[in-house]
Order: sequence, then C-alpha cells, then structure tokens
Amino acid sequence: MAGILIVDDAAFMRMMIKDILTKNGYEVVGEAENGAVAVEKFKELRPSLVVMDITMPEMDGIEAVRRIKSIDPDARIIMCSAMGQQAMVIDAIQAGARDFVVKPFQPDRVLEAVKKALA
Ligand SMILES: [Mg+2]
Repeated sequence: MAGILIVDDAAFMRMMIKDILTKNGYEVVGEAENGAVAVEKFKELRPSLVVMDITMPEMDGIEAVRRIKSIDPDARIIMCSAMGQQAMVIDAIQAGARDFVVKPFQPDRVLEAVKKALA
C-alpha cells in the first residue's frame, strides 16, 4: 500500500480530502496543486491511487490523467468534479480515470469511490 496522492489547486479541498481519507485509515503520501506537479509527484511517489481535480492552472486534471496513464497504464485515478462538468468527466474516464465524485463532497461517496478504485 503505497498510499494516495491528492491533487487539487485549492488547498482547503486538499485538506478536506486528506482529512476524510486519513480519518478512515488511508495513508496520504503527497499533494499537488496542479496537473504538472501531479505528474512529477506520481513519478516520484508511485502512489496506489490518485484523487484528481479537473480544473486547475498550469495543467488540468484531464491532461494529467493522460500523462500519468502513459507513464503507468495501471495507474488508479479518480476524478473530483464540480457540478456541470459532465463532458470533462467523460473525457477523464476516456483518458483512463476509474470513477468520479462530485463536489461538494459527501465523505461516504468519496470513501466508496476510493475503496472501489483500490479493490
Ligand atoms: Mg480546481
């Protein structure tokens, strides 16, 4: 269990996701504030799961999914989307993301998606 990498440009979102995960026994090994940093941290940390925001500066979550999947086709990634981002969620799933959760988060839904992605 290499742990989870959390990617979101909003620090409070990363903190909220980290809080949900660590309180439920998951290890968070790293955080990234945009897709470019996420790709670098993925290479460095090889996390067992990436929780990925969609809209971010520098590089968005969809491009980051494509790059991470080209590094490791078995990478497990779930997306965090805002309301009204269905088209981008579909792009992310086609790029290789396994699942998505919609903001504002319900902790149970986040945990369910994480558990399923790691199964
Ligand atoms: Mg964002």
